[in-house]
Amino acid sequence: MSYDLIIIGGGIAGLSTAVRSIEQGLKPLVLEKGDEPDYPCNARYSGGVVHVAEKEMRAPEADILAKIDHLTDGTGSSGLAAIMAEDAEQALEWLRGNGAKFVKGGVLEFMRWVLAPPRPRRPGLDWKGRGPDVLLRNLTASIEAGGGTLERGVRGRELIKEEGRVVGLTAERGGETIEYRAAAVVISDGGFQGDLDLVRKYISPKPEALFTRGAGTGCGDGLRMAKAVGAKLVGTDRFYGHLLGREAFQNEKLWPYPTADAITRSSILVDQSGNRLLDEGKGGIFLANEIARLDDPLSITVIFDDAVWTGLAADNRYPPCMNPAFVNEGGTVFAADSLADLGDQIGVPGDALIATVEAYNQAIDAGTCGDLSPARSTEPVAPQPIRTAPFHAIELCVGITYTMGGIAIDGESRVLDTNEQPIAGLHAAGSATGGIEGGPNAAYLGGLSKGVITGLRAADSVATAKS
Ligand SMILES: Cc1cc2nc3c(=O)[nH]c(=O)nc-3n(C[C@H](O)[C@H](O)[C@H](O)COP(=O)(O)OP(=O)(O)OC[C@H]3O[C@@H](n4cnc5c(N)ncnc54)[C@H](O)[C@@H]3O)c2cc1C
Repeated sequence: MSYDLIIIGGGIAGLSTAVRSIEQGLKPLVLEKGDEPDYPCNARYSGGVVHVAEKEMRAPEADILAKIDHLTDGTGSSGLAAIMAEDAEQALEWLRGNGAKFVKGGVLEFMRWVLAPPRPRRPGLDWKGRGPDVLLRNLTASIEAGGGTLERGVRGRELIKEEGRVVGLTAERGGETIEYRAAAVVISDGGFQGDLDLVRKYISPKPEALFTRGAGTGCGDGLRMAKAVGAKLVGTDRFYGHLLGREAFQNEKLWPYPTADAITRSSILVDQSGNRLLDEGKGGIFLANEIARLDDPLSITVIFDDAVWTGLAADNRYPPCMNPAFVNEGGTVFAADSLADLGDQIGVPGDALIATVEAYNQAIDAGTCGDLSPARSTEPVAPQPIRTAPFHAIELCVGITYTMGGIAIDGESRVLDTNEQPIAGLHAAGSATGGIEGGPNAAYLGGLSKGVITGLRAADSVATAKS
């Protein structure tokens, strides 16, 4: 069989690339390492919320750009991230044109477009027959109906480059090595969160202490093969993830939801000595990244009072909430009438914990949170004092979902070499790519929208190169 392009990975990025390439008159082959028709991938496990930078997909481009700038400290609009604002509405319409159904998932703006049928707002993993699973099945059917092929059980391994151009790859299928050739290859293998060595190299000194909050199928094959043919890598130090109760390692009902983000953002995080180490106000994704960098990512506990537990922790706008879902599913929330007793329960010196809480409360009262060490930001969520007994604690772990950095691409999803020049015949899309998300704030712009937008651009670029 001869194909115009070979796509490595059948998540939302790979399947969108394939369907769009058929619309452009091309014949795609998707190689997917999963064997089963409903092979695991992050797209299938996802919550199905399609947004860009937590703005709804039809928001004016300027508003989305402003939000991207806000999240990226003003750098987003001048870089590759701007394509997310430019293409948001078009990507939504493309999905709808390809059978995606949406519902409004809640009152928060970013939940305007949730793939239907939506995932129930319950703890634990729940993907079968939900919107993202249905979308992937529909896209697969469109590929087959349009003359393309999805081959399962094939793991892409090495690119073939001849005379400066990528002309195919070798792959493993059932212990055999097979060679595939086409004018273009698109890498969409979902990132490198599933590879301990790469996570150790770029993200955490102790990758085994991070909880895999996803399918774990992105094992860095794409990154390795792109690097081997001279690709530049960007932003590999950041990932999308959340803070979870540490018991997620033993209790499958405690991941991917509920997350502890809403609590941590309004409370304090302490280490085993009772000290604060981080600016809790910067949110769960940033905090997850920073905790992953610690020598011991399993050393952090969130401390909060009963006002937070019965207030923000029970805020039902984005369920399932820690209160009550976490407890109902067997998670431990330590509680004590004094901070000293709470310290005893979690193995943190009580006097140190009291001193940390007093300094934090005083800073809130005096409006001097910026003078704390480390400083505590007060927007968009104000810090809450820790005063109302009983006092609570939850031991945390970092849940890593997908890596935000990876293969450098340009606005046509062409892979760039270390001199920032496109490598002929090579594209990348979705979580395999870098340069859109991440940076100092670990800015999260939306994994599904990134997959579709970079995938559509990759297909268009391959079509243009062929014509
Ligand atoms: C629990 C959870 C909730 C999420 N919720 C949301 C949400 O609500 N909104 C949002 O925007 N994002 C969400 N995300 C993130 C989103 O799912 C991802 O960003 C997105 O799916 C990435 O798409 P992708 O196609 O790049 O990668 P994936 O969906 O991971 O697909 C990559 C595919 O490549 C395959 N593969 C890997 N290596 C090879 C190889 N060598 N050869 C062949 N095949 C290979 C894998 O098996 C996989 O099928 C969530 C993720 C999770 C896990």
